[in-house]
Amino acid sequence: MKVLVTGGAGYIGSHVVRQLGEAGHDIIVFDNLSTGYAWAVTHGELVVGDLADEDAIDALFRDHQFEAVLHFAAHIVVPESVANPLKYYRNNTRNTLNLLAAIERYQVPHLVFSSTAAVYGMPEQTVLTEDLPLAPINPYGASKMMSERMIMDLAAASSLRYVILRYFNVAGADLDGRLGQATPEATHLIKVACECVTGARDGMSIFGTDYDTRDGTCVRDYIHVEDLARAHVMALDHMAAGGESDVLNCGYGRGFTVREVIDVVRQQAGCDFPVAESPRRAGDPGALMADNQRIRRVLGWSPRHDDLEVIVRTALDWERQWQRKQADGATHSTNH
Ligand code: UDP
Repeated sequence: MKVLVTGGAGYIGSHVVRQLGEAGHDIIVFDNLSTGYAWAVTHGELVVGDLADEDAIDALFRDHQFEAVLHFAAHIVVPESVANPLKYYRNNTRNTLNLLAAIERYQVPHLVFSSTAAVYGMPEQTVLTEDLPLAPINPYGASKMMSERMIMDLAAASSLRYVILRYFNVAGADLDGRLGQATPEATHLIKVACECVTGARDGMSIFGTDYDTRDGTCVRDYIHVEDLARAHVMALDHMAAGGESDVLNCGYGRGFTVREVIDVVRQQAGCDFPVAESPRRAGDPGALMADNQRIRRVLGWSPRHDDLEVIVRTALDWERQWQRKQADGATHSTNH
């Protein structure tokens, strides 16, 4: 299939591009390289551009007859969205509208959209099904909820079919060490802890120790990026085979506390690093886990790497390699 992947140079997008390439799809990546890297695009062609640029999007769709779009490009940091909400509504919601306008104009039949568990907000249940009412408690979640709604409304008014994937906490790296999370100034827990191990960071904080959970810290459902990437390839296959539009959680259905995650990082690294206890971070719900019955049923997906040690080990392997790569780059630029 001829596919457009927005944000395909980023952490999750690059893993998906590699799997799509290996499955034989013909790929164009559109990415502004704000947090992604050209080296991470292992298959297809990279077009550097921004989804705010409607003319660039139009030219792209005019030049290529896409059979599907996978839309990853977005900002994803909850606390940043609280501090700078319009950045999120601009880049996530408005730019999704720009993309949908081209999808409508050029009648692209299939869309896979990266959404998030943050659309659920702070529900009473801790294991979440897709039909819960959406009530995001931060602008990041709201920006994605609004995008979901635009997609559903456009699909209702056209022949567009979609699969919306609501990601829980994505972590880990390609098992062969070729790709991983290289995002600058990352804030996500496993990435931050791995940076403490390599010395890229002096220490870290646990945000909130007074949640109503088994050890007082937040519980999240960590999913290995390779399992998540495979869900995208399967979503495309589903639509190509005539499958209906759907909204699917992507998670393993179990959770770990922040303290448990940090302990596994320490154990896998075989070293310790300073961890402070800090107040709650704005916009953080106490516990979020996926009910994943629907994705298992609709796509036939099931986890292959449901093991926190594997998630942490691959993240750590990647982090060490990435720090070396950056150090080598810095040495070369000083020498020349
Ligand atoms: N967290 C933490 N210290 C950090 C980063 C994250 O205690 O340096 C906590 C955060 O408060 C949340 C959990 O780890 O409870 C997962 O946060 P992350 O930013 O990784 O993902 P989110 O769930 O916000 O998408």
